[in-house]
Amino acid sequence: MRKLIFVMRKGIRLGAVWIGLGIVSLGLYACDQGGKSKVQNSDTTDDSIPAIKDSLVTVQDSITNVDSLQKDTIAKTEEDKPFKSAKDTTVLLTDTVSPRYIYLTFDDGPLNGSQYLDSIATAKGIKINTFLIGHHDKMSKKLHSYTERYKNNPLVDCYNHSFWHAHDKYTVFYSNPQAAFEDFEHAEQSLGLEHKIVRLPGRNIWYIGDRKKVDLKTGGTTAELLHQNGYKVIGWDCEWKINGVTGKPDLSVNQLYTQMKNLLRKGTSYTKNNVVLLTHDNMYQTKKGQRLLSDLIDSLKQHPNYHFEFVRNYPR
Ligand SMILES: [Zn+2]
Repeated sequence: MRKLIFVMRKGIRLGAVWIGLGIVSLGLYACDQGGKSKVQNSDTTDDSIPAIKDSLVTVQDSITNVDSLQKDTIAKTEEDKPFKSAKDTTVLLTDTVSPRYIYLTFDDGPLNGSQYLDSIATAKGIKINTFLIGHHDKMSKKLHSYTERYKNNPLVDCYNHSFWHAHDKYTVFYSNPQAAFEDFEHAEQSLGLEHKIVRLPGRNIWYIGDRKKVDLKTGGTTAELLHQNGYKVIGWDCEWKINGVTGKPDLSVNQLYTQMKNLLRKGTSYTKNNVVLLTHDNMYQTKKGQRLLSDLIDSLKQHPNYHFEFVRNYPR
């Protein structure tokens, strides 16, 4: 009899172990499925049907929001545990929807493509920033008319990207900081610019207030001179490249959107809650390029706490 009871107990234990293993394996299967669906999302190409893509963006978005909310909740709980009242939760929820600022910046205009950027800004009702080249404005009446369109559009700000764009020989250009500085002054007068805001050709250099970040040493002294003379020097947090002829991008809308969202969520941009995207006017000559930009703007607009801002207000 004792032996029979022992065998039965052993059977129950084994049964429990098998049930346990079953639960674990179900859990693993579920995780695996989750992982697979994520991969599928990121593999989505630009050519996918917009409706599908939109829903994927929404799904991914809500995942990230939940994720960040959970992370914040953990951080908050570790800071002041336990929650004292419902008030704490309210503060926490407000924090997760704090305003975040997107600066879309377009370099090297006026160029073929600028006229579409002007139209897209108007159609979407968003602020955009252009960094103009004095020499391009002087090249033809048509290009000059694009500068005029920008200047007459209250949703477009025009800033300084030098007169000659260093003739694309950056090291030579920055080896004479005084001449480089004067080239920016020349562009300012020639283009009739209102704001003392510059982006250095071929360099991702920031110099705003007392904060400075230099990617390559050459260019540092020019930035210093500009700063001393009251200019704000602005770099970028992320870049988008689209082939001007084929309209093929280096990053899909979804990939770039995720990159921008992560910079904001993780606070890893140059200034927290502010993200500056660099792209170029001539990338929007094709219908495909224009559609990509339109899709990116629509994705970003889904966030009620994202605001498109002028660089003259950077940082917020
Ligand atoms: Zn440039």
